[in-house]
Amino acid sequence: MKQIINLDGDCKESSIVPKGAPPVPPPLPGPTTSNSQKGLVMNGSPLRGYSCVSTNVANDLWERLFDSGYRADVTINTDNDSTIYAHANILGMASPVMRGILKQSKRHGRRRSIKILGVPQDAVRVFIRFLYSSCYEKTDMEDYVLHLLVLSHVFVVPQLKHECEQQLEQGLLTTENVVDIFQLALLCNAPRLSLICHRMILKNFVTVSISEGWKVMKQSHPMLEKELLESMIDEDNKQKERIRKLNERKIYLQLYEAMEALIHICRDGCRTIGPHDKDFKENQAPCSYTACKGLELLVRHFAICKLRVPGKCIHCKRMWQLLELHSRLCADSNVCRVPLCRNFKEKTKKQNKKDEIKWKILVKKISRTKSIRGAPFFSWAISSLSNN
Ligand SMILES: [Zn+2]
Ligand SMILES: [Zn+2]
Ligand SMILES: [Zn+2]
Repeated sequence: MKQIINLDGDCKESSIVPKGAPPVPPPLPGPTTSNSQKGLVMNGSPLRGYSCVSTNVANDLWERLFDSGYRADVTINTDNDSTIYAHANILGMASPVMRGILKQSKRHGRRRSIKILGVPQDAVRVFIRFLYSSCYEKTDMEDYVLHLLVLSHVFVVPQLKHECEQQLEQGLLTTENVVDIFQLALLCNAPRLSLICHRMILKNFVTVSISEGWKVMKQSHPMLEKELLESMIDEDNKQKERIRKLNERKIYLQLYEAMEALIHICRDGCRTIGPHDKDFKENQAPCSYTACKGLELLVRHFAICKLRVPGKCIHCKRMWQLLELHSRLCADSNVCRVPLCRNFKEKTKKQNKKDEIKWKILVKKISRTKSIRGAPFFSWAISSLSNN
């Protein structure tokens, strides 16, 4: 399939017209089949007074002019001593750089001669053809996208450069060629493409770092390799920090849920435990508090444990900490039914500064988590608190 880029930037596909075949007949007149409604467009604005019957026919005409070399006045010498024939006025109109080169080029008889070396001859051919018709074959783009990117940058053909960048972004970029394209994107001043390559390298670092492109870059641009390795370490640290923050948030959320469940048990009662005036029914509705079951076991233990002193029994220590945490979050101890709520409030007044700051930070973080919901690992949260 042939890719056609219109002057207004649209890209559409058409079937290939065999060389030498008659041009496709223009569409019949009428609003539904003609392109004349659109008119001639340049830089996105319609040109007044112009109507375009068919862009396909026009493109085909330009391609035939290039293929036949009819009255060509420029020879382009490429690698392998190959020659491409072209027309100075078309090259000059399509590329300002080409215009300058042609001005300074030597004449051989009635023809001017220029050289484009260092890229495959076929890539130069695809490039020059694009200058004529704004078209390319899909397979040519796949084969020569790197060369086309360089040529379009060097000869200042932004339309083709943009197309190359888009094609790379939409699938031609692979873990095998990403290092080469990254280097080219930096050289060709394509910031978006270089950013996309950079991201791809970091995301697929293991695969990319054993690619041929990476090995070559290591030899030719050791500084670039160093920079990439540094950004990889940076990214790795950022990832670790993200995970750490996520886990931290999970713990605060679990603590917050434990606080909710504690109030629920002391106020409404749940399953087998609750306030002394609670009337327990046989068939209770299932409890909606995720932390309730773990807390129920802890409260039951706390009620019967003989050690109970903080530091002696790990389970009781957790319970003391949860009770203290509740007291610090509790707005009104006078109406609160959680045991020891007021006692802890009194104790807080006598606490040393260091402990006070620690608790304040914890309370602040849990309060901030209030709006977040969803993690059910209550027991883990309690153990995390006891380990701190
Ligand atoms: Zn419950
Ligand atoms: Zn105990
Ligand atoms: Zn309270």
